[in-house]
Amino acid sequence: ADVLVEIDDVYKHFPIKQGIIFKHEVARVHAVDGVSLQIRRGETIGIVGESGCGKSTLARCITGLHPITKGRIVFDGQDISRLRGRQLKPFRRDVQMIFQDPYGSLNPRRRVGAIIGDPFDIHGIASGADRKKRVQELMELVGLNPEHYNRFPAEFSGGQRQRIGIARALALKPRLIVCDEPVSALDVSIQAQVINLLKDLQEELGLTYVFIAHDLSVVRYVSDRVAVMYLGKIAEYSEGEDLYEKPRHPYTNALLSAASIADPDAAESRERIVLTGDVPSPIRPPSGCRFHPRCPKAQENCVELVPELTVRDGDPAGHVTACHYPVDSAENLATEHAAIEQ
Ligand code: SF4
Ligand code: MG
Repeated sequence: ADVLVEIDDVYKHFPIKQGIIFKHEVARVHAVDGVSLQIRRGETIGIVGESGCGKSTLARCITGLHPITKGRIVFDGQDISRLRGRQLKPFRRDVQMIFQDPYGSLNPRRRVGAIIGDPFDIHGIASGADRKKRVQELMELVGLNPEHYNRFPAEFSGGQRQRIGIARALALKPRLIVCDEPVSALDVSIQAQVINLLKDLQEELGLTYVFIAHDLSVVRYVSDRVAVMYLGKIAEYSEGEDLYEKPRHPYTNALLSAASIADPDAAESRERIVLTGDVPSPIRPPSGCRFHPRCPKAQENCVELVPELTVRDGDPAGHVTACHYPVDSAENLATEHAAIEQ
């Protein structure tokens, strides 16, 4: 009942247009490959991974922007994965997106009042003086001066432009907002302001967030639960703090280590782990565990057997890991990850 969105074994594959052919089949990008997640009302779920891990694609699937290849997405009791075109319209009001690059998503030739009120025009909700009043209320809600209604995006700072994007996302009173790296393009000093605004709005408006980031420390600060994605699959998922305190998947471990480099306090208690190499191509993902070509703990059967998400001994029920040889919290991370730099 308190689940707003049920993501049930969702796949999203894209055919490759250039006609690359492997074994007589048109190559497909396995962007999302069997992801299941529950998003609860009023909470924030974080989705973390390097670029190319499928997190943005998953986000677009949740918003209905990408029809999915297989599986089910149920929003507030309704299966939206079979809806197309006009049928999606009511759902589109309930789910909005905030993007990484506020400048790129704002038309520089349009005044902010026009931009923020776009959803009113698209859905035929308000016009004239009523529209202007509503837009100015939104500007106030996100901490912009309503008198700047006639200014152009270039007249605002990066942080203010992200507020414009947030105001526009709020116009239709959505229930779910998918935030795709909303602060990655901002100065560190501005990031906290935007994150705190998002938190305040969540409380005030009862919003549910999906928060996508490549940085685990940002996600740790904003989310109630977190899923770590690697090459289209969830590698590790946990409710609360367990994943940060006792990471089980070697990939999570490496991401946490990268985060600790930026945080000197954390660096003292944790070895620095450098994850080398890029995420392999999602066109032909590695067999077995997809992380095996980069994993220092990989053994023979990692190449063959796909690890399932399961609760590990000593972990709470809400913490699952897909790994044949999960990290033991007592293990020395230094030894373990010396191998990752080889
Ligand atoms: Fe590494 Fe094997 Fe675990 Fe995959 S299953 S993360 S390759 S140890
Ligand atoms: Mg992305």
